[in-house]
Amino acid sequence: MAALDGLPPLRDVIARHGLDAKKSLGQNFILDLNLTQKVARTAGSLEGATVFEIGPGPGGLTRAILALGAAKVIAVERDARCLAALAEIQAHYPGRLEVIEGDALKTDFEALADGKPVKIIANLPYNVGTQLLVNWLLPRQWPPFWSSLTLMFQKEVGQRIVAGEDDNHYGRLGVLCGWRTQAHMAFDIPPQAFTPPPKVTSTVVHLEPRPTPLPCDPAKLERVTTAAFGQRRKMLRQSVKSIGGEALLARAEIDPQRRAETLSVEEFCRLANLL
Ligand code: SAM
Repeated sequence: MAALDGLPPLRDVIARHGLDAKKSLGQNFILDLNLTQKVARTAGSLEGATVFEIGPGPGGLTRAILALGAAKVIAVERDARCLAALAEIQAHYPGRLEVIEGDALKTDFEALADGKPVKIIANLPYNVGTQLLVNWLLPRQWPPFWSSLTLMFQKEVGQRIVAGEDDNHYGRLGVLCGWRTQAHMAFDIPPQAFTPPPKVTSTVVHLEPRPTPLPCDPAKLERVTTAAFGQRRKMLRQSVKSIGGEALLARAEIDPQRRAETLSVEEFCRLANLL
């Protein structure tokens, strides 16, 4: 049976193009187009939007994004085996899908955006997802070139992204995300929804840039959070010893007996600004 967009079912596409999932590329495909549409809808209205997708694979999420009205999708895929399957989608949506064969970690997304606002949507390969997210959070220019990130992660990583103080998952990633973005977990996806199923539950996280984050140098913030969370069970007087210890904490008016996970993002920024 053909899918609603008139293109063949993904199971057929995968069989026809011999796209056996490669573990080394983090390939766990979603074949249910209702589910890929649910993921794409989390990004808000896509009507007329430019979307960057990372790792389109056989194109399930790509098809959902296009069906929801994106004017243009630029997809970066490392696995050349997927290109023929993606070419069929290009033919179905003339002029609306550009495919770049390459490594997303080496792609200059800001240059690709070329000054236009873009939304980024991806079922990320788990081995590169966190690094890509951190790269997108660290441009000097803020607000950044993207207007939203809608990304799938292992649930445990999603929990670290949205965590605030006094949460067991709060750490360097939570501080960085909380500083520059507003992030929330939209919904979970069980392992059985993927082919092949991964070992863990996944979750869709949506992030939007804060228009005016607290002024802070990202490199200094990173120094503070690395020190503080490097020994998260210890009191701050011990864990931040290497970057100023009690004297630094006194200047920031932060009790040296507190632990890293009790500090708000604002307090981390205060410490960073005193380095
Ligand atoms: N988007 C498809 C879906 O939802 O079914 C596939 C998602 S699969 C989890 C991850 C995809 O990312 C695979 O197609 C894989 O080949 C691709 N990939 C892995 N590493 C990559 C990298 N460094 N740059 C670009 N694509 C990559």
